[in-house]
Amino acid sequence: MSINKEKYDWIINKLDGKATLVAVSKIQPVSKIQALYNLGQRDFGENYVQELVEKYEQLPKDIRWHFIGHLQSNKVKYIAPFVHLIHGVDSFKLFDEINKQGAKLNRVINCLLQVHISNEETKFGFSPNELVQTIETINKYKQLNQYANANVIGLMGMASFTEDNDLIIKEFKSLKTIFDKYAQLSTLNFQLSTLSMGMSADFQFALDAGSNMVRIGSMLFGVRN
Ligand SMILES: *Cc1c(COP(=O)(O)O)cnc(C)c1O
Repeated sequence: MSINKEKYDWIINKLDGKATLVAVSKIQPVSKIQALYNLGQRDFGENYVQELVEKYEQLPKDIRWHFIGHLQSNKVKYIAPFVHLIHGVDSFKLFDEINKQGAKLNRVINCLLQVHISNEETKFGFSPNELVQTIETINKYKQLNQYANANVIGLMGMASFTEDNDLIIKEFKSLKTIFDKYAQLSTLNFQLSTLSMGMSADFQFALDAGSNMVRIGSMLFGVRN
């Protein structure tokens, strides 16, 4: 299985040190991940718990594994020992479970809160209003030194799947505005530093809007079957 090194270099060049590349390797064979690893890539993203666990077991242990899919609370325990960052935290219940599993393992698990920015029904995430409430709740607990084993380090969002570039740009900008508001809030007991937005088709718009973490799959690995 070969990896297109030119494409990889082109993307790295585009990111220009401003954003972390999470190579989205869902459905891809271990051999392709290893090939990209050999080019220096260390951050990989997966959507399915069982697939992630199997790949973790087979691949080098210095890979930083990102869980980018929709995570069910009852499956957190399987990835808790090694996951680097959980992107799609979309309920307090899930955050609570991540903290519980982190406490059992005596590790702090980093999370991003997923914000619903598209006009599509199917995409998960907090509405901006729910986000305010969730951040306030987490902040209160953090103030009391509770929930020490789950850390919110930023936000994640997905734009609409559309040809309408103006809409995509508008959605990314709206998430950046929300991110900036919380990143600058001095009353928060945790620091937001990571803004995960942008995929193969729209990462340039996301970068222009201020993303500092992009999740790219098909452009690196080719179209998934
Ligand atoms: C699959 C997936 C990606 C990567 O999508 P591509 O279009 O292949 O780059 C990014 N983010 C999430 C949440 C995904 O599920």
